[in-house]
Amino acid sequence: MTRITIAKGDGIGPEIMDATLEVLKAAGAELEYDEIEIGESVYLGGNTSGISDGAWDIIRRNKVFLKAPITTPQGGGYKSLNVTTRKFLGLYANVRPCVSLHPFVSTKHPVMDIVIVRENEEDLYAGIEHQQTDEVVQCLKLISRPGCEKIVRYAFEYAKQQNRKKVTCFTKDNIMKQTDGLFHQVFDEIAKEYPEIENEHWIVDIGAAMLADTPECFDVIVMPNLYGDILSDIAAQITGSVGLAGSANIGEECAMFEAIHGSAPRIARQNIANPSGLLHGALMMLNHIGQSEIAEKVHNAWLKTLEDGIHTFDIFKEGASKQKVGTKEFAKAVINNLGKTPSLLKSVAYANNAAIHLPKYTRKPSLQKELVGVDVFVHWSGNDPNDLAEIVKRIEFNGIKLSMITNRGIKVWPNGFKETFCTDHWRCRFKSENTKVIEKSDIIELLANAIDENIDTIKTENLYAINGKEAYSLGQGQ
Ligand code: NAD
Repeated sequence: MTRITIAKGDGIGPEIMDATLEVLKAAGAELEYDEIEIGESVYLGGNTSGISDGAWDIIRRNKVFLKAPITTPQGGGYKSLNVTTRKFLGLYANVRPCVSLHPFVSTKHPVMDIVIVRENEEDLYAGIEHQQTDEVVQCLKLISRPGCEKIVRYAFEYAKQQNRKKVTCFTKDNIMKQTDGLFHQVFDEIAKEYPEIENEHWIVDIGAAMLADTPECFDVIVMPNLYGDILSDIAAQITGSVGLAGSANIGEECAMFEAIHGSAPRIARQNIANPSGLLHGALMMLNHIGQSEIAEKVHNAWLKTLEDGIHTFDIFKEGASKQKVGTKEFAKAVINNLGKTPSLLKSVAYANNAAIHLPKYTRKPSLQKELVGVDVFVHWSGNDPNDLAEIVKRIEFNGIKLSMITNRGIKVWPNGFKETFCTDHWRCRFKSENTKVIEKSDIIELLANAIDENIDTIKTENLYAINGKEAYSLGQGQ
């Protein structure tokens, strides 16, 4: 028996959870449940995170959490429970299989069978945002080596376990050379440890276009958080329906399983919702806790049910489908098919599935880090960068000189173009004329001079040479 935590959530959540649990019970899953309350009622009860401290204790004790969708109330102040859960519990990998079920579910892509492995904890989802000037706000994109190593290794281990042939990486490292560059670099490093699995990298824009056009070219795809968020929805949708897909959120200690869709309040309490997405989340959970035989039995019964043409309204198609059923009736049909396998669709075999455990991340020896300059960001409402350069040059001292000004990343001084549109947010780069390396105290002096000169500095970024190599972006056009 494995004790898990369940939450029935909002909208269609309770109906699809009841249907899922009924199927699991009939299939002989060895599960005991602790039920917690999350979502709308908790939010509206005054808890802005949508979950109580007591519920966290239960989730952390049981370590495995099957969650129905919830409704996040409109209006400010309510935090996304999904994002919070993933980050609090260190659920670094989001795994979404997207398989088409042609000809039983209509799709333009009959031979699609891919798995998206999305990094789940960092990237722009660190949620570190600031307004810095009248006109400019920023969001920090954080990518870490441990974050990259964990997700890339997970993708290769998953491919190995599932007998998949290829892992593809999507990044935008032609533009974001540091952040996406690190993700790509780690992908190349780790791919070498799996010579039996093919590997490739695509720039995310053309990769996404290929994914939408010829998904049969892909197998497992690993990517940073934001691209994964967007592309996993597209991938699920082009299989035929988002209502069919489940997802796993995997951490070193805990794991959460769910449907990929939301709480669909408009079709709630009518016994019409398709329970397949949550059922798929539950199948991934059964594999995770070592009950693969049950997962296999349920999955094959589910495929057989679709083949029999027993469909909920969302995938029902006159001519192709045989019987339109409700949530409960669909679950009963799956139960009736337990022990059977599909004849046209490919049946599944989950022989060696189990939770994937990665080696603990070990911190690498420290890199050699030298401070070689500083970018001082300035709020200035003028228009001509040459005027700003004159003002900012007044804070130069001791050979530490203004070397460049950029506006939204484009070099505007020296030798800028008058056509470049400028906002009120300027990056002024200072470097030493005499020595390569500067001191932290030099930055303090620069900033103190800026106060004396009435220059509105909004932040600084240190410029480092890491192991002798410049580890920061140059101005575009430089
Ligand atoms: P949604 O996924 O709930 O619905 C989108 C469309 O898909 C609707 O037409 C809906 O009827 C249909 N649909 C979804 N699931 C279905 C199912 N199982 N069977 C048949 N049809 C189904 O997205 P939405 O309407 O944008 O969001 C509704 C609420 O869900 C919002 O409050 C949102 O914040 C929340 N949400 C929660 C989660 C989660 O808890 N993981 C994820 C996404 C959205």
